[in-house]
Amino acid sequence: MSFRIADRWFERRAIDDDVTHLWEPHVAAFIRCNIWHVRGRDRDLMVDTGLGVASLKAAAWDLLDKPVMAIATHSHADHVGGHHEFDEVLVHCLEAGELAEPAGFSLVMAEAFPGDSLESLRRAGYRIDGAYCITALPGPGYALSDYELRAAKPTRLLEEGDVVDLGDRRFEVLHLPGHSPGSIGLWEAATGILFSGDAVYDGPLLDELEGSSIPDYVATMRRLRELPVRVVHGGHDPSFGRERLVALAEAYLERRA
Ligand SMILES: [Zn+2]
Repeated sequence: MSFRIADRWFERRAIDDDVTHLWEPHVAAFIRCNIWHVRGRDRDLMVDTGLGVASLKAAAWDLLDKPVMAIATHSHADHVGGHHEFDEVLVHCLEAGELAEPAGFSLVMAEAFPGDSLESLRRAGYRIDGAYCITALPGPGYALSDYELRAAKPTRLLEEGDVVDLGDRRFEVLHLPGHSPGSIGLWEAATGILFSGDAVYDGPLLDELEGSSIPDYVATMRRLRELPVRVVHGGHDPSFGRERLVALAEAYLERRA
């Protein structure tokens, strides 16, 4: 199989003056995560960082004009590949270990996924065709075997109720386990914005991965259902509003509760 060389690895779109959505168009849909940059007065936030195939910091250099905190909504490899590039790395305490010492499998080759994770992705409804999870290379001379998920050093461990303060914006940490033990959401009550990671997104939800817990996920969905959100920016798929959040939560609870 021969791959073409991507013109650029990351695409981006401004959601408003302060929130920018970045993503990796050449990553297979089932593993392509949303990356969110939030501009604050004193500090910025980077919510998740993608696969780590190409440098996020280099691609987003023009957005990064002040100290930035790279937060991991959880430590799954499709969300944390670029965290090693940042000085400040925030993650829930239950997943700090995985960030610091990631399991060494290649995320660019589906056949290298550990255990039955590929099977559980398919069971959940994802289409996975082909052995590769990227559809282009980030540059000439890049080989698939060059990919490695690099360790990142957590500098702040998060727990339920912690506040991530940007100076003029405050995000409260919601511990939302189920998909993974240390999944978090970042909730800004003043605007009704929730960055939800993989706790909820508008696509097949994964609750049978290693570390997943259906009872925890049920509790998380009951909690999310009550949250007065205006917009949810998830870990995958397009953003949505409160009505859709309630529908997604109800559908999950009907299936699993
Ligand atoms: Zn995940």
